Amino acid sequence: MARYTGPVCRLCRRTGEKLYLKGEKCFTNKCPFEKRPYPPGQHGPLQRKVKLSIYGQQLREKQKVKWMYGMLEAQFKRFFRIAQHMPGNTGENFLSLLERRLDNVVFRAGFAKNRRQARQFVRHGHILVNGEKADIPSYIVKVGDVIQVADHFKNNAELQAALKMNRPSPSWLSIDRNTLKAQVVRLPQREDITAPINERLIVEFYSR
Ligand code: SF4
Repeated sequence: MARYTGPVCRLCRRTGEKLYLKGEKCFTNKCPFEKRPYPPGQHGPLQRKVKLSIYGQQLREKQKVKWMYGMLEAQFKRFFRIAQHMPGNTGENFLSLLERRLDNVVFRAGFAKNRRQARQFVRHGHILVNGEKADIPSYIVKVGDVIQVADHFKNNAELQAALKMNRPSPSWLSIDRNTLKAQVVRLPQREDITAPINERLIVEFYSR
């Protein structure tokens, strides 16, 4: 599946919010958004004052979440359609599905410094699910699944650097950072997602 390969800091500036797509750099004063908190391009500084229409707000929120999870439009929309057919609140189901993507779980478990790197680890066969190699980043984990780093990869410098970041673990995962294993103990709920996301705008965008 294709992915966005351009500069990710532009996405934060385009969105007008820090999306934390890099890792350590996002928390330092090297973050480009700190210096230029306006859209990229020649007229970017002028766009700061532009008031968005309702449609603009919906589009921006949809783009923001899509970029946060490192997805392209077709797959993002496919996830939304799956959520629409699930019982319960569509917006909450959608966010829960996004959280359950294997690349996101690897990131949330602290085994990668950002989702882009997590996706690469999965694609390159460094991650096992229930003891079997799993190289599909969009695989949806289930309760009870055990996600672990393959033995041959445990000493990798990038992995070790990610572990040193020591990010807080979500409560829906039981993580053992010694054996580099994470188990899904329950499905992620809306309150587990602390990033500022207004899923109602995304539901409205796709329901037009
Ligand atoms: Fe966004 Fe991180 Fe780049 Fe800052 S460093 S602009 S938060 S991706």
